[in-house]
Amino acid sequence: MKVQLPKRIRDVFTPFIERPQLWLTIAMAIAIVAAFLYTANLYIGIAQQAQDELVNVRIGSLQDAFAPLAAELSDQSDVLRSYMRHLQELNPTIVDFDIVSPTSTPPNAWVVTLSADSARENRQVFRQDFILHLAQTDTARSFTFESNQSGERYFSTARAIVLRDGAVSGIVLTRQTLSAADAQIAASTHKASVTLIVILLFLLLLFFRHARIIDYAALYRKLKEVDMLKDEFIAMASHELRAPLTAIRGYVDVLKGGDMPKATQDLSLERIDISARELDSLIVDMLDVSRIEQGRLTMNLSRADVSGTLVEICDTWHMKAVEKGLTLTCEAAPGAFIMVDTDRFRQVIVNLLSNSVKYTQKGSIGLTASADEKYYTISVNDTGIGMTNDERDHLFNKFYRAEGRDVRDQAGTGLGLWITKQIVEMMGASITVESIKGVGSHFIVRFALAKE
Ligand code: ADP
Repeated sequence: MKVQLPKRIRDVFTPFIERPQLWLTIAMAIAIVAAFLYTANLYIGIAQQAQDELVNVRIGSLQDAFAPLAAELSDQSDVLRSYMRHLQELNPTIVDFDIVSPTSTPPNAWVVTLSADSARENRQVFRQDFILHLAQTDTARSFTFESNQSGERYFSTARAIVLRDGAVSGIVLTRQTLSAADAQIAASTHKASVTLIVILLFLLLLFFRHARIIDYAALYRKLKEVDMLKDEFIAMASHELRAPLTAIRGYVDVLKGGDMPKATQDLSLERIDISARELDSLIVDMLDVSRIEQGRLTMNLSRADVSGTLVEICDTWHMKAVEKGLTLTCEAAPGAFIMVDTDRFRQVIVNLLSNSVKYTQKGSIGLTASADEKYYTISVNDTGIGMTNDERDHLFNKFYRAEGRDVRDQAGTGLGLWITKQIVEMMGASITVESIKGVGSHFIVRFALAKE
């Protein structure tokens, strides 16, 4: 069963289905943006790492210089505190600048023994035990630990204060905010994002232009094809128009000649009539093609038993077949109903029958129509020239006529079967062909039975 998507969804996807290069364009735009994002992220990561490293080195150096001073001034807490305040003023990123020592009350805890902010003194230190222990064990270097409080990043750095006798008198503990550095990175990221969006817009514009150019190229190829077809059509149509016109003029000349037997007069008039009809059918075909192509061909469908119409068409064509030495038989079972536009249905059957008469030199032509539970099947069979598989594959193409004299000798435009197929499909039916070159052809038109 064919699943039909709602029209609104189909409208969204149709341009993509009709123009696969759009997919390519979108995929390219996504790939380029992804590459940009990846590179930008990489650089931002590197920049942030470098900045963190710098902050770390600076505070490390500060502590390296401060720790020996703190050891020297360990008994002059006021002087040391004023130094600490001074250093904190010089480095506004330092939010806490303390000297801490282990205490036994509570056990295994650390307390602030001296601070740039005297209000912090004697407070217990939380969450930094890890680096404090490390600094206590490895007294030659500083240790940093990153923490995050309400979305802001902090560096806590600890370094031991080693007295001349090698004893550790305390740990310098600083807490630095990274918000300024992070704000700088965020500002750069924001700028990069805006630039990226602008680049993306330019890229999209470029790609859509590119897709358009591809479209134009495809359109140009199509136009060229159409132009070629048009030239072929004009050449063929003028040839087809000329043949009956020449005949008409010839017979008119004969009639103008004056005295002639009545039989010759009648014959001339009949030939003129035939040629005029040929011209008429050619023009009707051309008009049908243009109507179908412009979507102007309308179907007036109604529920009908077409067996009577089939018999009637057979009767009309019977004489023509006999004139050509062919037999024409017709078996159309009545009582089955299908949805048809009667005039267009007649046109389809006439076209199939006229082709069979045209392309059959000896033997018979048969029209059968029968119904099963679901379908009404009409088959037009002949013992004519038949066709190869390749010819059969092109049969319903516009202007297609098989090669060879047996076809070229017959008047034709190659439009009849194209029109037939379009009409059959517009009536919701199908048309197929079975044929063997030199043996004959079966054209099968299948309609679904119409419900009451
Ligand atoms: P036309 O008959 O005007 O050439 P059609 O569209 O009716 O155009 O047919 C297209 C071509 O299909 C014909 O030129 C012929 O080559 C082939 N064809 C159609 N009907 C038959 C048939 N009954 N037997 C053999 N060939 C056929």
